[in-house]
Amino acid sequence: MELVIEDLSKTYPGGTRALRGVSLKIPTGMFGLLGPNGAGKSTLMRTIATLQEPDAGSIRLGDIDVLRDKDGVRRVLGYLPQEFGLYPNLSAEVVLDHFATLKGITRSRERARVVSALLEQTNLADVRKVNVGGFSGGMKQRLGIAIALLGDPKLVIVDEPTAGLDPTERHRFLNLLSEVGENIVVILSTHIVEDVRELCSNVAIIARGAVRQQGAPDELIAAIQGKIWRLRTTRDALPDLQQRHRVISTRLIAGRPEIRVFADASPGEGFAAVEPDLEDVYFHQVSAAEAA
Ligand code: ADP
Repeated sequence: MELVIEDLSKTYPGGTRALRGVSLKIPTGMFGLLGPNGAGKSTLMRTIATLQEPDAGSIRLGDIDVLRDKDGVRRVLGYLPQEFGLYPNLSAEVVLDHFATLKGITRSRERARVVSALLEQTNLADVRKVNVGGFSGGMKQRLGIAIALLGDPKLVIVDEPTAGLDPTERHRFLNLLSEVGENIVVILSTHIVEDVRELCSNVAIIARGAVRQQGAPDELIAAIQGKIWRLRTTRDALPDLQQRHRVISTRLIAGRPEIRVFADASPGEGFAAVEPDLEDVYFHQVSAAEAA
């Protein structure tokens, strides 16, 4: 099953153009949607999840016309929104059982089996009786993904799932996600390049409401091979360097700034060529979008 988005646009009342003609082809497997805050990721995710309407464009999931057949989409959709509330005084098991009923799993035997399997899969079986009010951020996200996986979805959307998780919880969550997504479409929306790098066979970079680039991470990296240069510098020299070069990122290394510059040939003395990574691809696209 393939998700095909064509020329999707959305302007909010007040004039913010959140989506400007977004087109994407998303095959089965893990797909990373990378973009900075405000890029339009949540708007796109909520539109695919049938929670809001675009102004123009179309979305197809296999044979389903997503914008027309909302019930059809909802039957095969699992959605983990950026923020979601859970009744704090209910246990994980009761919460999941409740959502399973809503999802139409009405036979109690089957429901108990499904709930139990999902609690195992998300590593929550030991805490099934614990009230979710006492859960850590990572446990809540894992329960969120358990809810999203109810009813064998064909399309799973997770919106900024690792924000606020500590490194251990983050790894656990990403591992869980990687087990989910081989035969279904999983869209991971995030501004964290690391989340995408290890997990996703395809990525799209979105900035200011438009898709800047789409492809396999390796291809995107190959396209900027030989064009990323680094320079160790001082804080005082930064403004001048920023004026003269296309600085795509600045990071601190042992307290000193190191800039990365995009250029076809060496930008000058002191610059060294670097082996680019997905972060360079991302910063290159985001800075180009901001400069436009
Ligand atoms: P992201 O998820 O990438 O951070 P969003 O889709 O949330 O991006 O937002 C894209 C742009 O649309 C931002 O400028 C945001 O402020 C604006 N926006 C999002 N939701 C609304 C809304 N309900 N009303 C008005 N503007 C909105």
